[in-house]
Amino acid sequence: MLFWHVWCPNCRRPIDSRLWHICTGLGPKIAICPKCRTQVSTGRREWDDFSGARRGMYWFLTALYAFFFAALGVGVGHVLSLSAPSLGDGLPVVYGVRVFPGYAAGVLFALLVAVLQFYRLNRSRKRSAAGSSVGSAGIFNLQVNIQRKLGMLFVLALAAAGAPYVYREIAGMYAKVPKGAPAPSIQPPAAVPDEAPAVSAAADAVEKTPPVPDAAETPEAAPEEPTPADEPDVTNDDV
Ligand SMILES: [Zn+2]
Repeated sequence: MLFWHVWCPNCRRPIDSRLWHICTGLGPKIAICPKCRTQVSTGRREWDDFSGARRGMYWFLTALYAFFFAALGVGVGHVLSLSAPSLGDGLPVVYGVRVFPGYAAGVLFALLVAVLQFYRLNRSRKRSAAGSSVGSAGIFNLQVNIQRKLGMLFVLALAAAGAPYVYREIAGMYAKVPKGAPAPSIQPPAAVPDEAPAVSAAADAVEKTPPVPDAAETPEAAPEEPTPADEPDVTNDDV
């Protein structure tokens, strides 16, 4: 499977997860199912049982997680700056993202991963010292199923950061219809009379009688523009 890889054999509840087989492998060897209390083997091992290479891989993956979450954090921070445009006013903008809250959120997310990894290591060593490699698989336990919990944290943070912005955008869409309608209706009538005589006066003059009022209006606007005024004068002289 893509994500889940350990289920409770008794009640089939998902116990542990990893994405594309990427996992540090650190954690209690046995997790207790939060639903039916069955002891489930996680396939994880404690820090004291890790080889040197495995410990190196732990820190390599920690750096990878931190980098990945930093990128997600920058996204959350950027969305937050859309929700609160005045946040970080006057601070530099790099690649379209504000230093605060954008990149600050990225650093915060990376620090969160680092703290979590040190915490897990510390807990692992305490379990080893106590001689019991058993942990809970509850939702607030950070020893197993960590990727999914961090993923949920990201989704919640993104939703919280973006909620005011999305709300404003939706509210703005409905508010613009009644307010914006009167404004454009005023402008077109003022623009049409100026353009209409110049284009249509010559063509309509033959067919319709109203050209007289058009001719009366054009001299008032004509003195500023020489070309429209010259043409009617030429035609009048010819007639
Ligand atoms: Zn169970």
